[in-house]
Amino acid sequence: MELIHSPIELQKRMIKARENGQRIGCVPTMGALHEGHISLACSIRDRVDILVMTIFVNPLQFAPSEDLDKYPRTLEADCQKAENSGVDIVFAPSPRDMYPSGFASTVSCGEITTYLEGAARPGHFDGVTTVVLKLFNLVQPHIAVFGQKDAQQSLVIQRMITDLNIPIEMIVHPTVRESDGLAMSSRNTYLTREERVDAPRINRGLVAAKNLYEKGERNSDSLRLAVAEIYKESNQFTPEYISLADQFCIECEGTITGKVLLSVVCRCNSSQTRLIDNIFLG
Ligand code: AMP
Repeated sequence: MELIHSPIELQKRMIKARENGQRIGCVPTMGALHEGHISLACSIRDRVDILVMTIFVNPLQFAPSEDLDKYPRTLEADCQKAENSGVDIVFAPSPRDMYPSGFASTVSCGEITTYLEGAARPGHFDGVTTVVLKLFNLVQPHIAVFGQKDAQQSLVIQRMITDLNIPIEMIVHPTVRESDGLAMSSRNTYLTREERVDAPRINRGLVAAKNLYEKGERNSDSLRLAVAEIYKESNQFTPEYISLADQFCIECEGTITGKVLLSVVCRCNSSQTRLIDNIFLG
């Protein structure tokens, strides 16, 4: 496996691969790899000749109050895991190489970025789409895979791909969970022991609402309440939002119809870790 730090070197390498007719796959990550990331890589391994995993903690998508400095950076261990899961190239650029002095351009995907995570973290999605487009231009993949875990992010990136006619097939991979249901996340390492014990309730709340939905409940308030009831039982975290939204991330009111995204964000009371999770109904 190759480890490439320089954007220009990577781009030259990928242009050559394209000239040789090789199919390229890309798995963008911020590192601190867990089985969720690995399963993304494995899901497209057989469909490409060169599998590139990018590892970059992107400063542009963090607000000044967020955890950019303390975000786990474990490049050596990540490279080992990437190699073991069939990655051919790890691209791990520095912030200075990605955003040299004078950098000024931003990709913005409009209304969909103003709801849910966009409302809670203003500017976050502009940072995401800007870096993802840069990564696409450097890696030049035929296929890129993202996680359902960050459902709105996947919708926003699909919006960008469609709107800007980016010739990339995007795949959304299901959320990989711990055996107790907690969605895997690099941020789970921040949790205190007590928070970790209670954290599976976050998924349990979603499952409770899904069960209710499957029994025929279609009232959006009742479904949100079913989640809230489960969360009330925990004194380890506080829900930031419990949302039922359509494919454009617009909040549903009254009776829901068609496929809806039930997403939650909980703030852990002690470590202040922000945990996100979601499930589709319908
Ligand atoms: P991150 O490193 O957190 O930016 O995540 C990189 C990619 O992995 C994103 O597309 C995430 O949605 C995806 N991802 C993160 N956690 C999981 C998980 N538990 N299951 C599946 N995909 C995930």
